[in-house]
Amino acid sequence: MKPNIKDLSREDLAAWLVLLREPAYRAAQIQQWLFQKGVASFSEMTNLSADMRRELEQAFSVGRLSTLARSISSDGTVKFLFGLSDGLGIESVLIPEARRLTLCISTQVGCGLGCAFCATARMGLKRNLSAGEILDQILEAKRSLSPAERITHLVLMGMGEPLANYAQTLKALAIMTDAKAGIGISPRRITLSTVGLVPQMKRLMEETQVNLAVSLHATTDELRSKLMPVNRKYPLAELIECCRSLPVPKRKRITFEYVLLRGLNHAAADARRLAQLLTGVRCKINLIPFNPHPGSPFHRPTPAEVEAFRRQLSAYGFQVNVRAPRGDDIQAACGQLNSEFNVQSSRFDVEHRTLNLEPGG
Ligand code: SAH
Repeated sequence: MKPNIKDLSREDLAAWLVLLREPAYRAAQIQQWLFQKGVASFSEMTNLSADMRRELEQAFSVGRLSTLARSISSDGTVKFLFGLSDGLGIESVLIPEARRLTLCISTQVGCGLGCAFCATARMGLKRNLSAGEILDQILEAKRSLSPAERITHLVLMGMGEPLANYAQTLKALAIMTDAKAGIGISPRRITLSTVGLVPQMKRLMEETQVNLAVSLHATTDELRSKLMPVNRKYPLAELIECCRSLPVPKRKRITFEYVLLRGLNHAAADARRLAQLLTGVRCKINLIPFNPHPGSPFHRPTPAEVEAFRRQLSAYGFQVNVRAPRGDDIQAACGQLNSEFNVQSSRFDVEHRTLNLEPGG
């Protein structure tokens, strides 16, 4: 198998070109074809010599995802099931809002962090995505848009833990934000969500300008460790201390995500403890009423309970948003992504269609 050229950073590509005695600026030309014009083969790169194209062809492949399924929610949210070259699948979600179009992308196939309330956790970790596979979700989603539509925001909140796949995620972020030869979305419009891997959070804030969201979900170590096993490694005090000391630019804030699980984490005492924990952290809080998925033992609080918790936190002086569930009718909302069943059922579909096409079948 030849390496996927979309997995190479600009520097990697430039270094390879130098070996061929080609000028390094060709790296930008090649990446423009891949990430701006979205070509699927080297033969389409018409500003390169035939020799150069042949060299590229011999050394690399141009990876691409296959769109196995596309479901559209009654609220306009679109969920993609993408097939990878090894037969595994990942999901990405396109979320239209009044003045923005956000794409939620995956960074791993499945997830190994084991959060009790999350559908992706049930798959376990199958593997990391490569940088090219992370980027291809954007290129593939773009192909489905009308000429007037444009993806304005990216959130790394799909399947997987982006900071557990740090190197590939960072390489992908560099191309996402590169206006010259990459996808060209400003880091201010990109948000990465993490369970709270402390060392990688520090690195991320030193090495990029993207927005950080941290999944908090509980105010005591006892409950958080039950809900999120990662808390045994990085308990609340260490996580919050890290957030307090991160080099977050003046006009930016960390977002804390807090999934509301009925009867478990939204009492007045939780609001009080949350306020204490977050004192001195420049932040905002996103409340996510639990999104149900098959077999999950948790429930969503009533709207009145959600509103009561929101009001208590606001009274402590926090900026609090309640995240509206988007695409929950097609299992596309936060924590509902699980491509395992879907890849199997879409394969089953394809087999059926093939069978039906066969004479006498
Ligand atoms: N691994 C990263 C990225 C996933 S982001 C992280 O955990 O932050 C998805 C967000 O949805 C996270 O805050 C996650 O905790 C939350 N989530 C997971 N399952 C959920 C569910 N069933 N309902 C609502 N939110 C959920």
